[in-house]
Amino acid sequence: MSLTRTLTTVQNLRGWLPLLEASREEFAAVNAATVRELVAPFEAAAKALDEEAKMVGLLEFGLVPQLVYAFDCEPISLENFPVFMSRFDMAATISFLDAAHEAGVPSSVCSTDRFILGAALKNEIPDRAFFISSSAPCDGTRIAYPIAERLLGLPACFVEAPYETGPEAARWYGGQIREVVIPFLEKTTGRPFDHDRFLAVIEESNRAYELLLDINDMYATSPSPHTSSLRGMPYFGYVTSAGHPRLTAMLELFHDDLARRMAPGAVRNQYEEKHRIFWLHVTPSYADTLWPWLEKTFGATIVATTLTATPLFEPIDTGDFDSAVEGYARQGLEMTMSMMRYTTSQLIDQTMDAFLRFRCDCIIMTQHVGCNSITAASGMIRDYFRSRDIPIFFIELDYNDSRIVPVEAIKRQLEEIIMALES
Ligand code: SF4
Repeated sequence: MSLTRTLTTVQNLRGWLPLLEASREEFAAVNAATVRELVAPFEAAAKALDEEAKMVGLLEFGLVPQLVYAFDCEPISLENFPVFMSRFDMAATISFLDAAHEAGVPSSVCSTDRFILGAALKNEIPDRAFFISSSAPCDGTRIAYPIAERLLGLPACFVEAPYETGPEAARWYGGQIREVVIPFLEKTTGRPFDHDRFLAVIEESNRAYELLLDINDMYATSPSPHTSSLRGMPYFGYVTSAGHPRLTAMLELFHDDLARRMAPGAVRNQYEEKHRIFWLHVTPSYADTLWPWLEKTFGATIVATTLTATPLFEPIDTGDFDSAVEGYARQGLEMTMSMMRYTTSQLIDQTMDAFLRFRCDCIIMTQHVGCNSITAASGMIRDYFRSRDIPIFFIELDYNDSRIVPVEAIKRQLEEIIMALES
């Protein structure tokens, strides 16, 4: 079964929920709803393994979960698993990272991949499960998953992600979903593919997607109606649980909370917004205290990030089976970390578009240890924005490992950034 340490973290969060719900904290209700949504996939996976004899689908970048639900399995997003654990249980995260390191995985490999390998070594990965992984976006993932497959002996499916982006690329990738992923799922689960069930799950995810688009638009207003800490939740929820009615209900609550704060005369949040930041690439997952501090001390809000705000297009066209598969494929390619296969000029265009749309006054770009894709692009990105007098700053950190750059050191970097911005 496994997930032992993760379920302890889940139980701790469940124990803390009543306190959060009863608190007078400004965003308590919506915070509690997002925490319930964050723990739900792990609880569902545990139940599936324990009581229901169902399988767990471990999805790496390049796939969103609708197809796993269509096969009546429970998905776990391996993209979000380390983010969840490093946010709520850094000790467990470090034990997984250390296990990978001791087994010989160099620290130059992204901590996202090292976390999964360490979790595999520490027997944390569910035993009645399968992997689906794509070749995008980086060497780390291409190396980590074949190793995890050998370590655990679980069924694994590897799909090729195209180099290109957009509808043509999605069509080609949709072919991989039809010809590789669906036959793999039929063989692994012992169930035939059910078109109607797939389309029903896609329709459910479209309801969530419409809410996601609306929510995204609401953050373009000033002042931001929510604190930075909540900004990523709708997106992370979608990548983890798209197609589950539970997620749709959470996004409705989130959407209603935003709409209520945006009503004329309503209080949006309790600080004066002076700076609107676009955060390029990943934010540190372990730094919950950072965002309220940044807002209260400097009036600076993270109103959009690369992951949460740039990869949004149209809901999936369910007019026929092929269009539904292609739309599903496109979400996998462009909403997950697979987007990091973008060329630098595409990344620049997306950043500029979001910078203008969300009315930002500066860009902060992560230099994540282990991410060759983003560090290699930083020089060109810096030159592009500075030549247009758009303030862009660089911040070093590790996505999931607070030992590399602790929260206090990130604070010092941010303090210097805001001073430079205001000078
Ligand atoms: S942060 Fe970079 S290295 Fe890590 S998984 Fe994403 S693209 Fe790969």
